[in-house]
Amino acid sequence: MSYKKLNQNDLNHLINIVGAAQVTTGDQISHDLSHDELGTVFSFPEVHIFVQDKYQISSIMKYAYQENIPVTVRGSGTGLVGACVPLFGGILMDTSQMNKIIELDKTNMVLRVEPGVLLLDIYEHVEKENLFYAPDPGEKTATIGGNISTNAGGMRAVKYGVTRDWVRGLEVVLPDGEIVKFGGKVVKNSTGYGLKDLIIGSEGTLGIIVEATLKLIPKPKMAISLLVPFKNREDAIDAAPRLMIDHVIPTAVEFFEKQSLDYSEEFLGKKIPHNDFNAYLLVTYDGNNEQSIQEDVEIASKLFIDSYHAIDVYLVDTEERRSSVWTVRGGFLEAIKSSSSEIDECDVVLPRSHIAQFLAYTRKISEDLGIRIPYFGHVGDGNLHIYFCKDDLTNEEWKEKVSHGFNLMYEKAHSFGGLVSGEHGIGYAKKEYMKQMLGEKQIKIMQGIKATFDPKNILNPGKVI
Ligand SMILES: Cc1cc2nc3c(=O)[nH]c(=O)nc-3n(C[C@H](O)[C@H](O)[C@H](O)COP(=O)(O)OP(=O)(O)OC[C@H]3O[C@@H](n4cnc5c(N)ncnc54)[C@H](O)[C@@H]3O)c2cc1C
Repeated sequence: MSYKKLNQNDLNHLINIVGAAQVTTGDQISHDLSHDELGTVFSFPEVHIFVQDKYQISSIMKYAYQENIPVTVRGSGTGLVGACVPLFGGILMDTSQMNKIIELDKTNMVLRVEPGVLLLDIYEHVEKENLFYAPDPGEKTATIGGNISTNAGGMRAVKYGVTRDWVRGLEVVLPDGEIVKFGGKVVKNSTGYGLKDLIIGSEGTLGIIVEATLKLIPKPKMAISLLVPFKNREDAIDAAPRLMIDHVIPTAVEFFEKQSLDYSEEFLGKKIPHNDFNAYLLVTYDGNNEQSIQEDVEIASKLFIDSYHAIDVYLVDTEERRSSVWTVRGGFLEAIKSSSSEIDECDVVLPRSHIAQFLAYTRKISEDLGIRIPYFGHVGDGNLHIYFCKDDLTNEEWKEKVSHGFNLMYEKAHSFGGLVSGEHGIGYAKKEYMKQMLGEKQIKIMQGIKATFDPKNILNPGKVI
């Protein structure tokens, strides 16, 4: 792919659109903007631009399209697959200042937002009105534009689904600068092909989200979590699907082992109660009726002890316990990252029936390759986060072991009916694995879709397909 390198005329044109204060070039561009949170894919843009509204975005895209300049969109840069890294230089379009909440429409129970609004600001805005936006990815400083573009998942996906299930409408700037609307405030929509759903999860390769209409529901009045220790991994993982069949679907079912817990406790300097067991499930029930949630908790506790070989069941029902347990759970990724010189992540998703076998295989790979591989997972929806740690390997050894190990893991996942990514996306880092897993026909269809939206391949080139 060959693109135009920006010259002074191009920069002047861009400055005319957004103003000089919003434009940074060359050495002035911060190193932070050359990578995302994964930190293994690096490339600097030629120019970094803070955009303020959809009209600026449209004007920039019209110009970039005409001049054949690559454009990559960046939200908060918390992604874990290198998706917002401008591989071919060009323009890095930063939406983080487009952070207005446009409208809370209570009658239609929707929230209209600009793409740079942070997840934590959405929660705050709607929850004070007793409304609820349910997707709950771990990183609350991500933008909603980033969440929609990666179809982010998170802890409450078991009961409430993923970001895709909470987007009613999108306004999008296409690569040629045209502004289009997909969906809207409507609850149902059988109007032709599902273009909104193509944009969701497309990692900024098909269009730029400039406004999103999000579904809301009444805020559940209470939530109670249970911390359930087990003698071993197999018992914990077996219990998760059985609980869903034997009783109601919980809000969240998280799995972790002592190793990840130890890293997080040490990293945060914070301990959870009852932290000395081999494996855990952290299960949450929420709802509006206190009595029925208490009943859920009682039934689940009895099932865990009587039928699923749990060692005990601890209620996480005070603010202090909630804060310590969920903070430590939320710290796993950062803790594992800080425990090694470099990490790489496998965000595999499997049918729930195969999680235990897959983790046993992961342990075997760890032993065979002589590499530390901690993990944890949203076991309620079959999504595991598995981390290869470089520690003191040389760069060459590291590259070879990651590539060999990931190939083995994804082959095994494929044989179990799994897929490359449950929630973090493909970006740059997982492209080859996706190609191998999905095969030529599906990749061709995706390439056709990309060519229809972006015939000149200027929007986030080198990503996904
Ligand atoms: C500690 C930690 C915990 C995490 N936990 C979870 C989790 O539980 N679940 C989960 O799913 N993810 C999780 N993530 C990953 C990350 O937060 C998500 O992928 C998030 O959606 C990225 O949002 P962002 O604003 O940082 O996007 P970026 O990283 O800036 O960009 C991600 C992609 O979105 C595109 N993009 C951004 N804005 C737009 C836009 N307006 N229009 C078009 N494309 C756009 C970019 O081009 C890029 O392809 C976690 C990350 C960290 C660091």
